[in-house]
Order: sequence, then C-alpha cells, then structure tokens
Amino acid sequence: MLDLPEIGLGTARNDDATTRRVVAEAIEVGYRLIDTAAKYENEVGVGQGIADAGLARDELFVTTKLRGADQGYEQARKALRASLDRLQLDHVDLYLIHWPLPRLGKFVDSYRAMVEMQAEGLTRHVGVSNFLPEHLQALADAGLPTPAVNQVEFHPRLQQADVVAENSRRGVVTEAWSPLGAGTGILEEPAIVSIADAHGVSPAQVVLRWDLQRGVVTIPKASSRERLVANLDVHGFELLPEQVAAIDALERGERTSGQDPAVHEEF
Ligand code: NDP
Repeated sequence: MLDLPEIGLGTARNDDATTRRVVAEAIEVGYRLIDTAAKYENEVGVGQGIADAGLARDELFVTTKLRGADQGYEQARKALRASLDRLQLDHVDLYLIHWPLPRLGKFVDSYRAMVEMQAEGLTRHVGVSNFLPEHLQALADAGLPTPAVNQVEFHPRLQQADVVAENSRRGVVTEAWSPLGAGTGILEEPAIVSIADAHGVSPAQVVLRWDLQRGVVTIPKASSRERLVANLDVHGFELLPEQVAAIDALERGERTSGQDPAVHEEF
C-alpha cells in the first residue's frame, strides 16, 4: 500500500488568499500532505502557499482532483495540465477522480488517461475518490491498475465498513474526507467529549487519533494556526480498545451533506 503522510491538510471552501496563508502556515508547522481539487478553485492559492513555504518539493505530497466537468479521456489529459499550471508545479503526487459520476459513464476513460499521465511523470500516483466497490471493480474489469487511494467520507457517524473493507482487500489506502464531520456536531458527541476529557485533549484530536488507529489517512481542514498545530498533535496519547469501540458505536450511516456516490453529481 502507498505510504503517505497519515495526516494532511484539507482546503475545501477556502478562497485563494486564505488558502495561500493556511497552506504556508501548515507547511511551517509540519504538514507534508496538502489536499486540493480543481473544483475548490483554490489551486492557485495552494501553489502560492507552497512557494511561500519554500520547502523542497520532494518533501511535500500534493493531491488534486479531476472535476466532473473534465471527465473523459481527452478532457482529463487537459485538466491535469491546467491544474499543474494553476499550482505552478511540474507534477502532483496524487491525482484523484473526484466523483465516479456513474450516470456519465466516463470514469474508466478518465482513469485510463490518468494512468498514462502517471507514466509521463505528471503525477506520481493515481487514485479515486468516492468510489464504491462496484466502481473499483469496473476499473479492474477494464484491466487498469489498482488506485493507490480511495478518498471517501469517513467520520464517526459514517464509517462505510463495506467500502473500507473493499479498499483494504484491494490494497487501496482509505483517506477520510470531512473527518471532523465538517461542523455537523460530531465534536460535541458526549462519548467523544468524555474520551477527550479523559486524555486531556480536544474532541478533534480524539477523532483524528481514532482515524489513525483505524488505519485511515485523514485530511482535516483548519484555518487557524492553533487548530493546525493541534490537529497534527495526536501522538502523545493512545485510545484504549474500549474507547475505539465507543467511537465505532457512533455509526449512523449519516452523510454530512447527503452526497451518495451512487447518484451524487457535481461538475
Ligand atoms: P472537516 O471534517 O475537516 O471539518 C472542517 C471544519 O472543522 C472547519 O469548519 C474547521 O474550522 C473545523 N475544525 C478544524 N479543526 C478543528 C478543531 N481542532 N476543533 C474544532 N473545529 C475544527 O471537513 P471538510 O469537509 O473540510 O473535509 C476535510 C477535507 O476533505 C476538505 O477540506 C477537502 O480537502 C476534503 N474533501 C473531499 C471531498 C471529496 O469529495 N473528495 C469532499 C469534502 C471534503 P476552520 O476551518 O474555521 O478552522
């Protein structure tokens, strides 16, 4: 399985100026994985933040994603180049299909283009996001290489056991989006608050530590330096098996914004 930093920076919903500041600050405090997407319209800010930080390029792991509007073989080939222009980089480390958009029927062709661009050095790895087991199977049926990563919604209220198990079976890293629940109250769950109190840490730190103990790479978004630092600082304590089980028990099959990959469409 691909070895990538276990905690990265999410950047959704921040504009270029904020993203520039946060990315530079995040790298300064120790983040080495930055997650963006063409759809976030902040790749310019990500690139500026990376340049401001001045770290050697090979110390950073940069992910971006193919948006729905750019799916298809020819479009995908153009889209990664356009992302690289905005990022001011000559390659990314991971390029993901943002959503499978099964009704469109183009993800296999998109992925084929991405594998070619990997061979050309434009991305070090290729992967997918929001792929259900049947979508992974469609790539395998087409004889394409296994994606390195499947980035999916994953937090205490939505643990997607079937997707995570299928990822593991295929040797695909599971990466959690909206790991903190994107402001939907997960951090106020009494079980999480009481575990946080027991360890003298914050609820966010408990949830991120739970990700690591579940073997899931996680990409919390944060905007202040204080939160950036705290979200990385999860190695000074360990959840007991019964604490992991108590968080596991918060599963409700509840998506933060109702986006079911079988039908969700965004372009
Ligand atoms: P998160 O679960 O990461 O939650 C982010 C929210 O939590 C922000 O409002 C942030 O506030 C707040 N927060 C951060 N740290 C703390 C803390 N220590 N204590 C309390 N609150 C905190 O949600 P996201 O939806 O942003 O998901 C993370 C990333 O995943 C995205 O940014 C994006 O990169 C990716 N993503 C991918 C998707 C996909 O389809 N592939 C879909 C959605 C997200 P503030 O920013 O004000 O500090």
